Amino acid sequence: MKRHRRSTYVRSAVQYTACHECDWLMVVPPLQPGEQAVCPRCEHKLRSLPAEARLQPMVYSIAALIMLLCSNLFPFLGMMVKGMHQDMTLYQTATTLLEEQHPALALTVYLFMQILPAICLLLICLIYSRLGQWRGKRLRKRYTLWLFRLIPWCMVEVFLIGVLVSLIKIASLADIELGYSFWAYVLFSLTMLKAFSAIDRDWLWWQQSGPVHLRTPPAPRGRAIDQNLTLCHACHGLVSLKTHRCPRCQSVLHARKPHSLQWTLALLFTAAILYIPANILPIMVTESFGQQTYSTILGGVVLLWDMGSYPVALIIFIASVLVPMVKMLAISWLCWSVYVKRLHHRRGRTRLYRLTEFIGRWSMVDVFVVAILVALIRMGKLMSVYPGSAALAFAGVVVLTMLSAMSFDPRLLWDTEPDTVQPVTEGKSDRAE
Ligand SMILES: [Zn+2]
Ligand SMILES: [Zn+2]
Repeated sequence: MKRHRRSTYVRSAVQYTACHECDWLMVVPPLQPGEQAVCPRCEHKLRSLPAEARLQPMVYSIAALIMLLCSNLFPFLGMMVKGMHQDMTLYQTATTLLEEQHPALALTVYLFMQILPAICLLLICLIYSRLGQWRGKRLRKRYTLWLFRLIPWCMVEVFLIGVLVSLIKIASLADIELGYSFWAYVLFSLTMLKAFSAIDRDWLWWQQSGPVHLRTPPAPRGRAIDQNLTLCHACHGLVSLKTHRCPRCQSVLHARKPHSLQWTLALLFTAAILYIPANILPIMVTESFGQQTYSTILGGVVLLWDMGSYPVALIIFIASVLVPMVKMLAISWLCWSVYVKRLHHRRGRTRLYRLTEFIGRWSMVDVFVVAILVALIRMGKLMSVYPGSAALAFAGVVVLTMLSAMSFDPRLLWDTEPDTVQPVTEGKSDRAE
């Protein structure tokens, strides 16, 4: 064990890097297991060295895959109304939507809650099980590139919040049972998050392909672009802009994301257009004793508030109404401030960008709530729930705002600043120089 830790330490020797979010060039000293390096200019986490960097991701991924399998074998939730019992399994959240003629919505839900997380976990097992071996290296590089592309789209924890919101929504109407699969899914969610948090992109690429060699060592100060260097967006290696592709991962190199503002605004505008039908059209149709009630997102919040479920009403309001709106406004403001070069308080603006990237996926809660209620409440004329057309429009808004935030290049916020590093706020562990 001691030997393994030592080799990890030697592997992560002193190296040059540029910040992914502000393009500042610096030297990162060797990290001890459990340590992390932070950018002194914008406070972005540059890299970390988990205590068991090689073992942890694979062990947690295997555990998560087993839990995912278990969560599909047993009933997920059960419901009892007026002597009638109804069970639902996890995959029925998608198959029922398919039966209700909503294939796009079924695919969206199933992709984000099961398929993409399963693919990511399988990729981690494939990559980590053969780390350091030369055979199949090219294929493993491709797996690694895909792994980091897919991780932001795994919404397991958002789905779990969706389950909890659905349970509170129907708790007053029926008796609810939590099946074995529910607990397996909770464990799946925890182990998957643990596996993802144990991955360090830079360490992984270093183990697979070693460091990227630069012909002349750069001056570790100022912007990388000024020394004709850039941080590869895929493998996070510092590479020369003279080459078209990254020598380590073969990704196409750009000093800044091409047409970043145009792409960001185009995606944002499309999301804003979709946001109108998402709020006007019904997201859910409830049939009770033969009577149909159509509810919009805002109508659902008002209904929950009137029923006295204040915390759930607040969660749905924040996740479905406030977050998409705030996110769209925040991204527009960032784009505008880059466009007019009004770039004071850069650290604050970069924090806002990080926040918009982080919160975007949580809006998917309402879409998952619809999928769960449709699968669970199927008692014919007594009580049934059907999906409304706003559900797909709203899923579109969430996906488009996420893509829009991904298209924005935060380095543009720092591009006109003089070459100075302001001191980092107290209490931060700062090992980058
Ligand atoms: Zn930075
Ligand atoms: Zn690369």
